[in-house]
Amino acid sequence: MLPYGRQSIDQSDVEAVVSALGSDWLTTGPRVAQFEADIEAVAGAPAVTVTNGSTALNTAYAAAGVKPGDEVVTTPMTFVSTASAAATLGAKIVFADIEDETANIDPRAVEAAVTTRTRAVGAVDYAGHPADYDALRKISESVGAVLIGDAAHSIGSTVHGRPVGSLADLTTFSFFPTKNLTTAEGGAVASIRPDLLKRARTYRTIGVVREGLRRPDEGPWFYEVHEFGENYRLPDVLCALGSSQLRRLAAFKARRQQLTARYDELLADVPGLRLPIQREGVDPLRHLYPVRVLDGRRREVFERMREAGIGVQVNYIPVYWHPVFEDLGYQRGMCPVAETFYAEQLSLPLFVDLSDADQDRVVEALRTILGS
Ligand SMILES: *Cc1c(COP(=O)(O)O)cnc(C)c1O
Repeated sequence: MLPYGRQSIDQSDVEAVVSALGSDWLTTGPRVAQFEADIEAVAGAPAVTVTNGSTALNTAYAAAGVKPGDEVVTTPMTFVSTASAAATLGAKIVFADIEDETANIDPRAVEAAVTTRTRAVGAVDYAGHPADYDALRKISESVGAVLIGDAAHSIGSTVHGRPVGSLADLTTFSFFPTKNLTTAEGGAVASIRPDLLKRARTYRTIGVVREGLRRPDEGPWFYEVHEFGENYRLPDVLCALGSSQLRRLAAFKARRQQLTARYDELLADVPGLRLPIQREGVDPLRHLYPVRVLDGRRREVFERMREAGIGVQVNYIPVYWHPVFEDLGYQRGMCPVAETFYAEQLSLPLFVDLSDADQDRVVEALRTILGS
């Protein structure tokens, strides 16, 4: 089965990991700081590494001060952790519908959803296309909320030359194998605000602080915990892989752009399909190639592509459809644009080592099914 996404690991990646394994530090060592500096160079803001994209979101919401009784406005067109990572801190999740064109959260829906209780607004850069952060920032600032970007899909993307990582107050990344780069499991939080990044770093390190102590310093061993945190540390072995992968990011971007352009061209005349668009000024590192299958044929196309050995995927089931939200009273129908998008959405294989020949096979299979 041709997968819809997969990692690209070369000899330089293997050597970086082997070298870390032979070093004095398997975790909490120099490769962590190095990977964080390497992320900053791409993201345009300082970063702290964490264990995965879900704990990155949890860390970002904690750094934003999300607590029981707060509201967090976010999109239903995402992986569940964009919402659940705030719900586990006690927040009430308020879903705002998406834009039909980009499948990103719609600023007009966010405007209607925010209240004085809104602690954070969480956007997602769906498929690698950044959300409309300029519009979202005006709204989040109007109610004193923190703007968070879930950039699990979009590390390496820019908007008018500004990198993802510098657009929201806090930005989270995932380094799962299907994403734009991988550390097996891994993630990071970047922030343009030093106060928020410091809180994120403390939270992912169990709340341990060694500066600004409340009590007299007892000696070099001394530390305090002022607020509860979690151990979300990413080990040196995986940070070594991350730094190695980041050195390849420009090549990853070039290949993903090439494959995207080929899909755009090869699928342009296929009937019953809608292809993804790109807004002016956006230079995306595309994680997904999401098409829309019209005329109610998505399930049929999904099944026939899988039968042909092509691992298509659906991204995503609207988050509030999950029974954990249903049990809290959320009802189907609340975000109609997202539900229509879900009903038609199909992700085609897109990854760095996808060959032109395999991509041609994907296109031919789609053509056969849709009859052109
Ligand atoms: C993958 C993903 C996550 C979660 O990342 P993990 O590293 O798998 O925990 C969160 N949000 C989005 C949009 C994702 O695609």
